[in-house]
Amino acid sequence: MNFNFPVDSLNQLQTPFYFYDMALLNATLDSVKKEAGSYGFKVHYAVKANANDRILSTIKDAGFGADCVSGNEVKKALETGFGASGVVFAGVGKADWEINLGLDNDIACFNVESIPELEIINELAEKKGKVAKVALRINPNVNANTHHYITTGLEENKFGINQWDLENVIDALAKLKNVELEGLHFHIGSQITDLMSFKDLCLRVNELQKWFISHQICPKVVNVGGGLGIDYEQPDSSSIPDFKSFFKLFDELLELKPGQELHFELGRSMVGQCGALLSKVLYVKNGVNTKFAIVDAGMSDLIRPALYQAYHKIENLTSNKPSAKYDVVGPICESSDCFGKAVDLPETGRGDLIAIRSAGAYGEIMANRYNLRELPLAYYSDEI
Ligand SMILES: *Cc1c(COP(=O)(O)O)cnc(C)c1O
Repeated sequence: MNFNFPVDSLNQLQTPFYFYDMALLNATLDSVKKEAGSYGFKVHYAVKANANDRILSTIKDAGFGADCVSGNEVKKALETGFGASGVVFAGVGKADWEINLGLDNDIACFNVESIPELEIINELAEKKGKVAKVALRINPNVNANTHHYITTGLEENKFGINQWDLENVIDALAKLKNVELEGLHFHIGSQITDLMSFKDLCLRVNELQKWFISHQICPKVVNVGGGLGIDYEQPDSSSIPDFKSFFKLFDELLELKPGQELHFELGRSMVGQCGALLSKVLYVKNGVNTKFAIVDAGMSDLIRPALYQAYHKIENLTSNKPSAKYDVVGPICESSDCFGKAVDLPETGRGDLIAIRSAGAYGEIMANRYNLRELPLAYYSDEI
């Protein structure tokens, strides 16, 4: 299904803004539900990808849980109506107030990333007379083959418990009375397009499960995190990621023990394609070897190109003239404020409406007020 731009209506609105195709979002969520559901897998949506109210409540209504990485995300998930039993809380640096918030609300699970954290959760839970459910986030040392800023499952990364520490962790667990081991948790990175990385993850999880079982431990839940990538090059022809192959791979390769549940935490793949950043061309100016199309959106609205050298497809929605090449840049005082170099666009001029595609994940949520710019607004296909 293609993203639908109601160009005439969008052209009336003050730019820049995010525009969400709610039909595409719903079709994507349906696909996740169908494919994960066919194996009985449970999916928690990674709130950090996009916590916009409408997006979040649509995902809640579709029946997914919430994967949170901060106290405020936990709060937001609960306020949105995700039940506490569907809220899991990961993060390498949980502050005491964030842990207390999770304890007070009896969230489903804390994904614990170190022994000191485990001890603090135990201590805070003891003060409340509670037993916290925890999953061990294990660093599987699997290469996600993605940008190094979004690789999280290598031993050199700050995330998770390394394998050499596991013996100490289970010793600690045996002593700590206010934490209960609920699961094993993994997350190897983001924007993973080669399913072989997930295959490597499955094989590592199988090995680790054997190790736990040899220590008489068989947690109820195996959580393999998120990371499934989207096609930034072809947002229309592959608007819905191949969830079928993704879940099938885990079904085939990951050896669950009797009674074990398999959980996922998808972010980008659920919301990435349903959003676009809309912007208008302010000026076109000639550079030395290039023409600059200077648009009214900047890296404060969408930071991914500047932060991760990320590619986003750029389209001119209002010109159909013969094409030329442009560097599409924003107004912010940083040379990294560039959405694309040598982009093929129909001849572009002041006032043209530009769409920066595949911006539904890690777009609006990462917007900031650098240069004291306003935060971008959001509009939805079913309200326009
Ligand atoms: C970011 C994150 C996710 C989601 O990653 P995507 O690539 O957006 O699917 C899942 N789990 C954890 C722990 C995360 O930090």
